[in-house]
Amino acid sequence: MPRQEMEAWFTELGEKPFHGRQVMRWMHQRGVDDFNAMTDIAKSLRGRLAEQATVAVPPILSDRTASDGTRKWLFDVGNGQAIETVFIPEARRGTLCISSQVGCALDCSFCATGAQGFNRNLTAAEIVAQVFHATRTLDGGDTGRRAVTNVVFMGMGEPLANYKNVLPALKILQDDYGYGLSRRRVTVSTSGLVPLIDKLSKDVNVALAVSLHAPEDSLRDELVPINKRHPIRALLEACWRYARTTNAKSITFEYTLIDGVNDSPAHARGLAALMRNRPAKVNLIPFNPFPGTAYLRSSDKAIKRFNNQLHRLGIRTMVRRTRGDDIDAACGQLAGQVADRTRIRLGRKEFSLVREAS
Ligand code: SAH
Ligand code: SF4
Repeated sequence: MPRQEMEAWFTELGEKPFHGRQVMRWMHQRGVDDFNAMTDIAKSLRGRLAEQATVAVPPILSDRTASDGTRKWLFDVGNGQAIETVFIPEARRGTLCISSQVGCALDCSFCATGAQGFNRNLTAAEIVAQVFHATRTLDGGDTGRRAVTNVVFMGMGEPLANYKNVLPALKILQDDYGYGLSRRRVTVSTSGLVPLIDKLSKDVNVALAVSLHAPEDSLRDELVPINKRHPIRALLEACWRYARTTNAKSITFEYTLIDGVNDSPAHARGLAALMRNRPAKVNLIPFNPFPGTAYLRSSDKAIKRFNNQLHRLGIRTMVRRTRGDDIDAACGQLAGQVADRTRIRLGRKEFSLVREAS
């Protein structure tokens, strides 16, 4: 529960709302999951809280650390379904990459999560639990050193297709009584649900990353099928609006480089033309293979050429270093355990789930 709801809940219990803030602090800042240990709250109230609520992390099915220090947890979210969370340590920051859905219905052709299909949305509690667990496990305790400095919604799922649960989670991440993360330290990555990009800009202030992957519609239709519903032009207009409304310096555009598919000099020129003189920076992601995919990663030479070309054309760009690929923790490799229900429950009707969400 975000702060407002938490305070309202205490009022409903006939208690002072500030107890809600106390509980938030115990949970999110001190990693406490036992109401009885929340010692600045009256004992009798602690007992009532324990009767009515739980602070719990889904059972952990695996916890692995890659040779480069990247760590990945697999959480059991019930009914044989599991989701993944990845921590990426760097010299000056620690990024936690969290999941928002069990699988994903959007079916991008180059993504392991998409290939798995969709089972269900995560609850706000399941989203926040990933951050709760990682900070509790990794933060430096009394030293005050924070391991998790940034949170990105780049794990499994399309966050904006689970808007109703992602929004409260974002509020908790940014709240001073929650994780206290500033707007630059929380990033929502979307494949481009245009109406919800606009909504997001009104509801919170977070950094936006957009999965572009192609400079023209025919290719993007193939790679990111939601493009048929929200084509590049409409998507980019929403991005520039987002930057204006939220006062953001720039929007990040993710562009996965796939050998012979979207990595030619003509693609780079097309991309540069879209980004020129805009509040944009481009994140180039070397394609990460997963079982069953026919795509290949662009060669190092092609990646360098693409990056240099954008650079020469005046576009801010960087190549994202591949992290944790020896434990399948790199971008696009998160698969968890997903029993696909989109086809069973909704037939093959395109995007019906997304329509529901928006
Ligand atoms: N659903 C959201 C967030 C999760 S994916 C979105 O699509 O933006 C995080 C990023 O990894 C996205 O840019 C996605 O397109 C990219 N990605 C997916 N599969 C990939 C792969 N196999 N290799 C490299 N990047 C991939
Ligand atoms: Fe879903 Fe994002 Fe993967 Fe596309 S890239 S299938 S939107 S998780």
